[in-house]
Order: sequence, then structure tokens, then C-alpha cells
Amino acid sequence: MSVEKASVCPLDCPDTCSLAVTVSGDQVIAVRGSRVNPITHGAVCAKVAKHYPEFVHGTTRLRHPLQRRGPKGSGTFERISWDQALDIVCSRTREVIARYGPEAVLPLNYAGPHGMLAGDSMSLRFFHALGASLLSRSPLCGGIRSTAYAGTFGATPGTPLQQVSLAKLIIVWGNNATVCNLHLMRQINAAKRNGAKLVVVDPRRVKVAEQAQLHLAVRPGTDVVLAWAIAVELERLGGLDRAFIDQHVLGFDAFMERARAYPPERAAPICGVELEAIRTLARWYQQASPAVIAWGNGLERNQNGGSGLRAIAALPALAGKFGVAGGGLVGGAGHSFPKTPDRLTRTDLIPARTRTINILDVGRVLLDERLEPPIKALIIYNHNPVIVHPDQNRLKRALARADLFVVGIEITMTDSMQYADVVLPASTHFEHADLYPAYGQQYLQRAEAVIPSVGESLPNTEIFRRLAARFGLTDPALRASDAELMDEALNASDPRLQGLQPSRIPTDRAIRMEFGGAEPILFKNVLPRTPSGKVELLSKSLGDRYGAALPGFRPVESRYPLTLISPASDKRITSTFGGLSASDAPPPLEMHPTDAAERRLSDGAWVRVWNDSGEVFLPLRITSIVRPGVVCSEKGAWLRTSANGQTVSALAPAHKADLAEGACFNDARVEVAAQ
Ligand code: SF4
Repeated sequence: MSVEKASVCPLDCPDTCSLAVTVSGDQVIAVRGSRVNPITHGAVCAKVAKHYPEFVHGTTRLRHPLQRRGPKGSGTFERISWDQALDIVCSRTREVIARYGPEAVLPLNYAGPHGMLAGDSMSLRFFHALGASLLSRSPLCGGIRSTAYAGTFGATPGTPLQQVSLAKLIIVWGNNATVCNLHLMRQINAAKRNGAKLVVVDPRRVKVAEQAQLHLAVRPGTDVVLAWAIAVELERLGGLDRAFIDQHVLGFDAFMERARAYPPERAAPICGVELEAIRTLARWYQQASPAVIAWGNGLERNQNGGSGLRAIAALPALAGKFGVAGGGLVGGAGHSFPKTPDRLTRTDLIPARTRTINILDVGRVLLDERLEPPIKALIIYNHNPVIVHPDQNRLKRALARADLFVVGIEITMTDSMQYADVVLPASTHFEHADLYPAYGQQYLQRAEAVIPSVGESLPNTEIFRRLAARFGLTDPALRASDAELMDEALNASDPRLQGLQPSRIPTDRAIRMEFGGAEPILFKNVLPRTPSGKVELLSKSLGDRYGAALPGFRPVESRYPLTLISPASDKRITSTFGGLSASDAPPPLEMHPTDAAERRLSDGAWVRVWNDSGEVFLPLRITSIVRPGVVCSEKGAWLRTSANGQTVSALAPAHKADLAEGACFNDARVEVAAQ
């Protein structure tokens, strides 16, 4: 007999859907959306509905601790017991610490699960107590965005997703919503039924662009120029809200001085869009109220990325679009929740002067023979770095270092686990309780386990508790139960929790984050939390930290003619689900007919895509979905899809963005030829 149980999707996706999970015995047999969360409203993406049962119970699931027997990367492992595994991890890591000190140990993790406990709770308590090197994780993905947003508005929530339905003009900027932000589409459709106009800015004619009245196929990395041009056109039209600017905007004159260097006539050829399209967009934006911008994740993955986001974020302030429901900018949802990360991860346990390593530098740092102390032990969890880091070939060389002790904590046998000396099996979120704030909407959810742990797998929290005990670490913080961790993850006395204890939030409801009893509306019931209390178009803190007080623009210099973008796919969440049978096919390379004709390439042929960092072989899809000069292949495919053990990440450059030292995947420049 099967039963249906409540859960939440933990994957790296802004939507954080509530789930109804059909369980028979100890097996998850089906996953569908539930209506517990009114935003996600019973709908889930096809990826989750299709893949989760196989992900939890399929052949790639790790059920026991393993020890590598063959060479690194060979995939030869032998089952061992938990006691043996913990002994090996403890003794080898202690040897490293005895010889090189605790900073020779480095955690390498990212955002596999987004539950607060599985994400970073006991794991970081363990590494902090150990004195391991710290890892700056956010540069891999969210750091540019969070830095740009907070630099402009501070830690304050933006427009909630559901208010998009109230808008009269929606600008979807770099957001392939149908694939990556599913529940935005419901809001867009509702707004359109009420007569709203839709504008899409995206280098590809993605599905949502087909529904738009206007599509600007902007050249990747030039969003800042486009946003400046819109600001200039607004000024020409008399569309700047001077009263709002005088009272609430810092740095207007300096921002506009830069923007005026890129009027629409100059911006159009740089951005690769029609002059008239820029003018139309500015005119519609001036005229519509409420008007909202919903940006996506990805447009900032270039060296001008932070500038692009900041210039886009400036537009609602310049045009006076805040202060009404359905206006402004959808963003900053993470600031809705009363999180207490220092308490959860116990940052007070970090020894003074512990060094921090940028996650993007891990490959380089591991190969740096002069690094003092060197990294000699690496613990990979919640992360598949071989697939998702830029400069893939260097990272693979680094992980293959014979003297590097690698521990992997994972749910399935990923490409990265092939480099581990010891693999510890982790439970999926269906096998433990967790708390789920979101980064794309403002409802807090909690879920209980729906099945027992599969095989001998354990939740991350329990794995790190056991590691702490094995290492002889005695701080009581390292023995906290999951319920205690939940209660330390959020400020229970904050009115947003409505008197609920975090560990006891009912699983049959989602808690809406409220400000004075209502959804946030910037400049109505919430205000910027910047140092000046204003919208900061000129940011002293970003200037001091990154030399980027104002947005800027630098074209990418390269001898390779084509821009390669690698967006999210409709098959995987980054690389999650990549090892499943349905994900074995190599993703195609999309190319515009003009570029294909210049190279005498034919549809369906295999092509070689290369630059100085690597080469990838992909089947070609000739399509006008992608703009000329840009080629596109989905991120996240596993090495098994590749003929030569390289995927698009091998072509992504190692240089950093203008903010947060973030990754520049979409600055990849390549050439393409017949294979
Ligand atoms: S991946 Fe996103 S859209 Fe799909 S179920 Fe999870 S939260 Fe929802």
C-alpha cells in the first residue's frame, strides 16, 4: 500500500516547490507538486517528477562507504564499514594536520541540497573547530548577484514573485523562466491575462521570449551597456522620477555620467540589438505602472556581470517604479528570512587568521607547489566540482595529485567521487528532516523524512557529528541534534516566524515572510539597508572592496570568435540527475545558421569546439534560437556524455568577474569546426 507524504524540493533552483511524495514501504515511487506552498501551487518541473525515484533508489546511488582501490579516476572501489571509513579519514587527515597544520585541510562544497541542515550546518561547525582552511563558495555562482544586489539595496527583500501578476509591464532579463524559474511563468501568464506587456532580454529566443511583445537578443556580457542606454533614453523622454531620485538615490550624477557615454545609438551595435528596440523598451517602461523586472541567474557570469546587474537594478529607482505592489525588481528573496548563519555554523569557532580560498581557485591552489601550507586533504560534499567548475582540465589534474587525500560525501557516484580515496554515502533530503527558505520566493517550509535512509547512508549532519567525535573534538556544538540545529538556524523571536519554533514548523503549511503584517514592498513597508539608507548607484563599499564604486564595461579580448554560453538545462539541476539513464546523451551545440554556413557545418554533424583550455565534441544543432556570434550548450552534463572526458566547463575561463571574484562561464570564447 502506498501513502503520500509532504516534502520540499531541496535542489539549487529559486522555486523551492512543496512536494507530495508517494511512498510504498521504504521506496519513493512518485513525486508530484503539492499545494502546501501557494507559490508553487501543485506544479513541479518535469526533471524532478521524472528523475527523483531513480535518483534515490537507482543503480548509481551510494549505499555503503567505499575505499578506492585503483588509480584516481579509475572508478575502482571496495565496500568498507563505517568504522573503517571513519578510521581512515581520521588517521589520514590527522597525519596531514600533524605535518602541515589544520589549514592543509580544505572543505570543497557548494549547493547540492539547499536545506539549511544538509547545506552548511554541522559540516562547517566541524571544519571551523578543526581549523581547516575556509572556502569562499559564493564566487562559483550566487556571489556576483548577492553582492550586486546588497551593494545596491542592502540586505532587504525585493519584490515577491507573486506580485509579478499585478504588473502592467514585465521585463524578464536573462531568465529562461520556463526551465529555471517555472513558477514565474504562472505569474507572467496571470499578468498577461490582465493586459500586461512582456519584454524578454536574452541572447537566445527562449520559450518565454516567444510569448513576448518584444525580445532583445542581447550579446552576452553587454547587459550593463543596454541598461545604461535605457537610462539615457528614459532621461531623454523625461521618464526619470526626479523627486524619488533626490530623496532615495545615492550616486545619480556619477551613474548617469557613465551611462550617457552609451546612448542608445552607441549601445545598439555593442549589444547587438536594434536601436528601435531599446527606445521602445524605455518608452514602455516609462509609461507602465506597476512595472517589474525579473532577472535570472546566468546573465552575470561574465567579467561585467556585477555591473550588468547593478545597472539593471538602477532602472526601477531611476524611473520611480518602487513603492507599489507589482513594481520594482524581483530579487533579494533570501533577505526575507530571519536566518542566523553565524550561530548555525558557529563562526566563533574559527581560529584567528584562518586563510580563505576562493572556490574558483581550488584547481590552481592544489597545483601550487609554493602554497604554504599546501592543501593535502580535501573533503568534497554537496558538490560535483569536476563538472561544474570552470577550467575543468586543470581541476582534474589537481584532483589526480597522488599525494592529495580526497574524501567524498555524496548521494550518487559522480565524476568527482571517482577521485576520492574514501567515499561516504549521504542520505537524500527524503531521508532526513530539514528547513527550507528559498532564494526565489518568500515562503519558509520544513519537511520530515519520508523514508528511512537508503542502505547505510547517513544525513550530512550525522556524518559530520561522527567525524567530529572520531577526531576527538569536544565542543558541545558538535553534538547538537538536528532539531537543535534547526532552532539555531533561524531567529525564533523574529515576528516573521509567527511564534513558531523552527524545529516545529508544521509540514502542512508554508510560512509567508511578512513585514508589518504584509508582503514586502520596497519603499512602502521595507527600505534599503545600505549604509546611506538609499538605493546606492554609487557604492563606497563595492569601490573599497572591488574597485567598482560604479558599474563599468570591458569587452572580452580573445582570438576566438564565438561566445560560448552554457545555461541551465531542462534535464538536470546543474549536474544533479546527470548520472541517470535519461541524461546520458551529449547535449547539442546550438549555432545560428549564419555562423554554421561560414564554417560549412551541417545540422546533426559532430563538431569540435575548442579554445586554449580544452576541446569538446558535440552534435551540432543549427538554429536561429541563438543569436549570431553566440553558440550555446547546456551545463551540467557528466563526463560519460563526452568522447574525450571534457565537457563545456573545460572551455570556461578562469578569470574573475568585476564583483565577488565570481565565475565568468559566459566569457568563454571558442572556435568550432567539423570533427
Ligand atoms: S527543481 Fe525547481 S521547479 Fe523543479 S521541483 Fe525543484 S524547486 Fe520545483
